[in-house]
Amino acid sequence: MLDRDLQAKTTLLMLEVTSHCNMHCTFCPSDDLVRRKGHVSDEQAVQLIRAAHELAPGIPIMFNVLGEPFLNKKLFDYIALCEECGVNVALITNITLLTEERLQKLYRFSNVHMNMSLHTPTDKAFAERGYKKISGFREYMEMVCNTVEAKFRHRSKAGLEIYLASELTENLMQNDNGSRLWTMFEDPKEYEAGWNLVAERFTELSARIEREYPEAFAQGMEEARRDLAPQIAAREIVFRAEELPEWKLENQCSGWMCAPGVIIRRKGFGMWAYHEKFVQRHAQPGRFVFHEERSEPFTCGGALTFGILSNGTYTLCCQDVEGEMDIGNIATLDIREAFHSRRRAEIIENCATSRICRRCAGNTMILDTRPIQSEKQAIDKFGFGWHIHEAHLFAKGGRWTGGSAKSYFYTRMDAESLAIEFRSPFPSDTAFRVLASAYDPATKKFTLEESAEFYGRRDRMVREEIPLNLRRNTFYRLTLLSPTFVPKQLYGSGDERRLGLAVTSLELAGKPFEELSNKVAAQPAPGAAIPGEGLSAYQFPILS
Ligand code: SF4
Ligand code: SF4
Repeated sequence: MLDRDLQAKTTLLMLEVTSHCNMHCTFCPSDDLVRRKGHVSDEQAVQLIRAAHELAPGIPIMFNVLGEPFLNKKLFDYIALCEECGVNVALITNITLLTEERLQKLYRFSNVHMNMSLHTPTDKAFAERGYKKISGFREYMEMVCNTVEAKFRHRSKAGLEIYLASELTENLMQNDNGSRLWTMFEDPKEYEAGWNLVAERFTELSARIEREYPEAFAQGMEEARRDLAPQIAAREIVFRAEELPEWKLENQCSGWMCAPGVIIRRKGFGMWAYHEKFVQRHAQPGRFVFHEERSEPFTCGGALTFGILSNGTYTLCCQDVEGEMDIGNIATLDIREAFHSRRRAEIIENCATSRICRRCAGNTMILDTRPIQSEKQAIDKFGFGWHIHEAHLFAKGGRWTGGSAKSYFYTRMDAESLAIEFRSPFPSDTAFRVLASAYDPATKKFTLEESAEFYGRRDRMVREEIPLNLRRNTFYRLTLLSPTFVPKQLYGSGDERRLGLAVTSLELAGKPFEELSNKVAAQPAPGAAIPGEGLSAYQFPILS
């Protein structure tokens, strides 16, 4: 008996037809996979496709998690089987393998929607794809244009979406080496030039398609305006390049329909899969990586997908690139049993039961461990319990705690005290507490080492120096505890957040490690970190 509730909840099926890719994008964990790469077994692919309509009627199968689907020679057989079974297919492709012959085959099908990862609109950014068979971005762009034009040449109804990367200003990565793990477009002008080239080229192409296929163009546009009326009214779909916003949110990208059934989207690029080797590849040696996992129960729409990786492992989300959700493998667990399994229901109901989800919804920090020759060390890694940064908080900028806020730091100097600048709305005799807990890499646990009380002055900004006896070269969690209030209840304002203290600065105070005095001559600049090896207690620990 099928569970109708789980059926109704399923938003997408996934069949990773291959985990191989002919590109090596720096922003993708594909090259870091620990599981063995390969094509999905024919038998398993057919099983999933045949079961699709029964499991989740009307829901398409996406032929990816990782990998370039056109590398699997059976791809067209699978699309044909889907067509026979009344199942729609979504393909994400890097475009490089879309030859005339393949396009001709592809556009014969009535059930295909193709997403093209154009992403890198400059030569410099294109170099990040690690693909040598194409000279640069212009050649790549022409392949996409040919694919779009071929759709009209072959009178195909296939939906095409073309994705361009655009960077999010903030993601969940906090890195001592800059706010992002990587930056693809360091110069905004470079990105703008790339976007202009794309906009110009697709505008030209659209005009040519309209001239050469006037009836198909007019009819297609009429259908699109009718079918997409709500999105058009909400400005989620626009018809001119200049009306397309740079990005909205990761899953709310707007689209420019440059020709009927052809939508260009700018996709905010955040972190994709908090994969340990992937993070390690981007962080410098000697950095300390910490994932603060989200532990309280939560749900996420991402878990409403269902499918198999190329090795047959069941998964519920494309972030689970190694298949670590513990649902089983199609080789040993029937597809219907997996679909209706307790484990699947458990993750849907509470994602915190999956480490992948806890990490994905948590905070990742990359900390420099090299000693600093300074008397201050900023504490600027914020975990759970902090509200977002407010640039103008009490004219200084800072964050509210939510009553129990966790920060993290690695001691890079001999710290003797914690300096905290904050403002409290509570009576001046209210005691607040600070707890410093040291991390033990062996047990992977924090142990309380120091705790102290401190006080503020009601509605006044104060700076407190709290004595703390901390170990050197040690990773610490600092917890600030205070009562809370809700501005809406207290002042009748619109702010419904639960707030504690308004903290504008948090730093360790002390002196540089003593042995640094012998190395001062080697220092490149006063106050700069000392380069060198073996200064940190750890080489490259990945913690959880
Ligand atoms: S992002 Fe796509 S094209 Fe790039 S390596 Fe990953 S799977 Fe391949
Ligand atoms: S929280 Fe879980 S289900 Fe949601 S996107 Fe992250 S890994 Fe996927």
